[in-house]
Amino acid sequence: MNKTLDRCDLLITGGQVIDGTGCPAITADVALQGDRIIAVGDLTVEKADAVIDAQGKVITPGFIDVHTHDDRLLLSNSEVTPKLSQGVTTVVVGNCGVSLSPWVSDQAPPPPLDLVISDKNNSAQFSTFHAYSAELTRRPPAINAVPLIGHSTLRCGAMDRLDRPASQAEIKQMRTLLRESLAAGAAGFSTGLFYPPNKAAPAAEVEALARELPAFQGVYATHMRNEGDQLFESLDETFDTARRAGCPVVVSHHKCQSKAVWGRSAESLARIEAAAAEQTVGFDVYPYVAGSTVLLEELIEPSRRIIVSWSTAVPEAGGRDLADIAAEWDCSLAQAMMRLQPGGGIYFCMEEDDVERILAHPMGMIGSDGIPHDTHPHPRLWGTFPRVLGHYSRDRQLFPLEEAVRKMTGLSAQTFGLAGRGVVQAGAFGDLVVFDSSRIADSATFEQPTRAAAGIDCVIVNGAIAWQAGAGTGSRTGRLLKNPRTT
Ligand SMILES: [Zn+2]
Repeated sequence: MNKTLDRCDLLITGGQVIDGTGCPAITADVALQGDRIIAVGDLTVEKADAVIDAQGKVITPGFIDVHTHDDRLLLSNSEVTPKLSQGVTTVVVGNCGVSLSPWVSDQAPPPPLDLVISDKNNSAQFSTFHAYSAELTRRPPAINAVPLIGHSTLRCGAMDRLDRPASQAEIKQMRTLLRESLAAGAAGFSTGLFYPPNKAAPAAEVEALARELPAFQGVYATHMRNEGDQLFESLDETFDTARRAGCPVVVSHHKCQSKAVWGRSAESLARIEAAAAEQTVGFDVYPYVAGSTVLLEELIEPSRRIIVSWSTAVPEAGGRDLADIAAEWDCSLAQAMMRLQPGGGIYFCMEEDDVERILAHPMGMIGSDGIPHDTHPHPRLWGTFPRVLGHYSRDRQLFPLEEAVRKMTGLSAQTFGLAGRGVVQAGAFGDLVVFDSSRIADSATFEQPTRAAAGIDCVIVNGAIAWQAGAGTGSRTGRLLKNPRTT
């Protein structure tokens, strides 16, 4: 399409535009004005305040990381460097039942809440979602955030003991807090039914809370009760709960986590597809055969290898193999783990075939599940998106680049109801990435996990250049993306 414009703030010229819908790339210019894209096509612009030459490069929507634990990182590192550097312009926070708000306590938060909540830093505690939202508005980060409220966080606030189902009175209290959070803009609700603080919650308790979602078009995201030998039962529970509550559901970081289910991803994906024919279902996945979370004894058995990602008791253990530490201490893996607590681990517990099949499924969205405050984090924190684009799309040819981009932009925006995001289109928000598709690669490894990706030229958030030539520009134009029924 030919178009002539008098002026624009920013003009990106001559790139291969991949628009996020899955359509084939086209050569085009993109013009931005204020926080929006105003034209895409063969553009003649009389005066552009700034020009980016994208010849030989790809222009895509900014990546949406649908599965993160960046609640506190948005405030403690407002550049959100691990994400911005790989082209992410929006993160969904508050996953796996753990959100930073609503929470106030001088007690140490029980694992895995300690992955996000710090008892060392009271200024980073928020008794209401509204207070968290207000702080993000006062001190905006470089990228956008879509906030979920975590069931474990709510349970810690409402219950004296977490090893039992909530009473009716406690459910009522949690529902009120969740409703207030949704009214103030939270985009949904998450559970982490695998974890001790959430485990004792029966499906009926989850359903009672999730019933608050439909009035706000909220999304339910779940780290299911079991991703190993009970994977199929957990999928059924997930779909039942969401159907009864009348809300859309996202299965978090779908995987086949133990020997009992290795190689069964074709079946699990078929189960997800069958549910999706009846109700609104999505899932996300990260591109690695290892997962990461707090140190948990039940994850020793399904893992081929475990790397310690942090330890309060033995800080120098971060980055070392648990097996080496256990050999040095002449004890079992479980005993070594006990001595390292509290801490985190990286668990090699999946098979490559399953990871690739799940990644390649058309319903699969990309979510990093990066854990930002670990001393030696899983490389997914810095490498997820370039790894999908470089390793899995370009090198392994698992899917075309257009499909890889759709899985991290258009599909994600649609699932979370992010109007005007995830597409390169006139009228959409100016969240964009310019990258070199021949060079893009994850540089973060299990040995050196905090290296910025290669091949990212420029990242634009709400019309402003936030990352260029390998560094942040200091721009802080990120916004909290609230649900459409926020009051
Ligand atoms: Zn999780």
